[in-house]
Amino acid sequence: SVPLSFFGGIGAASRHGILIKGSNFLEALTAVKTVAFDKTGTLTRGQFTVNGVEPATAAMSGTDLLKLAAAVEQQSTHPIARSIVTAYEGDLSQVAVSDLTEKAGHGVTATVDGQTVVVGNAKAMAAHQITVPDTETLGTTVNVAVNSQYVGRITVADQPKPDAAKAIQTLKQEGVTQTVLLTGDNRVIAGTIGQQLGLDRVEAELLPEQKVAVMADLTEQAHPQHQKVAFVGDGINDTPVLARADVGIAMGGLGSDAAIEAADIVIMDDQPSKLAQAITIAHHTKRIVW
Ligand code: ADP
Ligand code: MG
Repeated sequence: SVPLSFFGGIGAASRHGILIKGSNFLEALTAVKTVAFDKTGTLTRGQFTVNGVEPATAAMSGTDLLKLAAAVEQQSTHPIARSIVTAYEGDLSQVAVSDLTEKAGHGVTATVDGQTVVVGNAKAMAAHQITVPDTETLGTTVNVAVNSQYVGRITVADQPKPDAAKAIQTLKQEGVTQTVLLTGDNRVIAGTIGQQLGLDRVEAELLPEQKVAVMADLTEQAHPQHQKVAFVGDGINDTPVLARADVGIAMGGLGSDAAIEAADIVIMDDQPSKLAQAITIAHHTKRIVW
């Protein structure tokens, strides 16, 4: 049974836009020493902007490259896809797109005007034996290939949320000893964000199932010490990680319905600092209870 005052804690949290689905989760928060975060949409705004369009040869213009990528990405709800479709301002209705397949942590493949087009990261290209340049870009690289031939790349970038660094700092003040970034994005971008925000550990280039495996490791290390692990995500591909964490926390605004469903706690306004606030409320409630 759960002490009655934890219900008071739930009320206090809800007044701050933090929905806690049961008093057991509020109690669990007091034992959380490790917090893992998704990057896109959780610690960053989740709104990418295109900052580079680089066709591989003069045979293709930047606009043509962007149009091709946008045609393939138009059905995808991934924030990277949305940014590419937004950046291409022209009409896509005359482009014949079929056989769309989206692969989490990779990108999208489709048939466009009879040609096989792959749009995605280095992993997606490797999976199709497509060679891409290994020169760095100032953001997340979206490669484009036509009939197994690399034709160019688009660079997209996202910004940390304004309160993200402060949120990490406050968590440490609340007794969280380990903060971890779990992301499918590349090592360079992940490392930069990790450093900017003061995260203790960065795990990059993870597929959704690999995020679950890292989460399983984290809980295995924490439980013998009577500690718990929280995961905060916006839920695009991350529902299994939310379910695997001791306390799964979803961003309610950007988050998918599946994520909100799978989560134990929902942060309505998507501010990562609300997690620290929830932990503060949990500790405070526990002091009153005991
Ligand atoms: P995160 O862990 O940042 O939430 P995801 O697992 O959603 O990232 O995606 C990981 C990576 O997979 C992205 O950084 C991107 O390189 C690639 N990717 C996923 N979906 C798409 C898409 N629709 N178009 C292009 N690239 C994609
Ligand atoms: Mg994600």
